[in-house]
Amino acid sequence: MIIDLHCHTNMSDGVLTPNELIDLAIERGVDMLSITDHDTLDAYAHTTAVPSGLKLIPGIELSSRWRKQGIHIVGLNIDLSNEAMVSAVNQQSKVRAQRAQEISNRLGRLGFDNCLEGAQRFAHNQIGRPHFAEHLIAIGAVKNANEAFKKYLGAGKVGDIKEHWPDIDTAVQWIRQAGGVAVLAHPSKYKMTRTKLTELISDFKDAGGEAMEVVSGLQIPSVTRDLAKLCSQFDLLASCGSDFHSPDKKWAALGLISNLPETCNPVWDRWS
Ligand code: AMP
Ligand code: MN
Ligand code: MN
Ligand code: MN
Repeated sequence: MIIDLHCHTNMSDGVLTPNELIDLAIERGVDMLSITDHDTLDAYAHTTAVPSGLKLIPGIELSSRWRKQGIHIVGLNIDLSNEAMVSAVNQQSKVRAQRAQEISNRLGRLGFDNCLEGAQRFAHNQIGRPHFAEHLIAIGAVKNANEAFKKYLGAGKVGDIKEHWPDIDTAVQWIRQAGGVAVLAHPSKYKMTRTKLTELISDFKDAGGEAMEVVSGLQIPSVTRDLAKLCSQFDLLASCGSDFHSPDKKWAALGLISNLPETCNPVWDRWS
């Protein structure tokens, strides 16, 4: 079984349309897929005729905040028409629009004019920092997205604005209200000390979080083992996903995911 419960379309910062993503999932032999765009469910309104061989689990990746740090929480198997979720998504979209204006203002102070218009040319729907990165590349300010994040958009830089995101408790509650399972996304990407990560997982669990991503894309075995240990320590269910955004990122290829260790209780046992 190939299971990929974390990926993006061009409804947020991915490059494929929802239908192109589904076609690629079929081509890769994916059996179960969740599209988890950043703070939007719009992909689900744009998928036509999902083949019966592919189980599509409604999902989302919510932006939230914990101790002044941006944290991503994936919601899986949610009710797409749930009122609390629909209004949460509206709120998150407004925050994204305001934040984009603010990022643009701040970049303007560094001498980069009209960045909002520039970024919007790359955003098909939900706008995010990767679209600003594309604009900065297009105007020759940086060579690639990595440099854009390192200099202007990443943690601690001018374009890193996360004050307006809800706290993790709120994000988890939205997912629970929509009947879904809240999953702590890619814990190793936050680059936290062991103590801090343990505190985050503990707070996440107290908030009603039920699972964590033990595997995110192609991951080195020692990281997987370590996350699996934390996962059982906190008695959480385990999830896995590629965090696919674009076919040219080889370490986050759709359906190409390291196996979950046998000690893990897979989150999908709930609904398969
Ligand atoms: P946002 O959702 O606007 O906060 O932007 C976060 C997104 O930026 C992540 O989901 C990644 O897709 C992307 N991202 C984060 N760090 C980097 C980086 N160093 N290089 C390229 N893309 C990145
Ligand atoms: Mn992204
Ligand atoms: Mn993420
Ligand atoms: Mn993601």
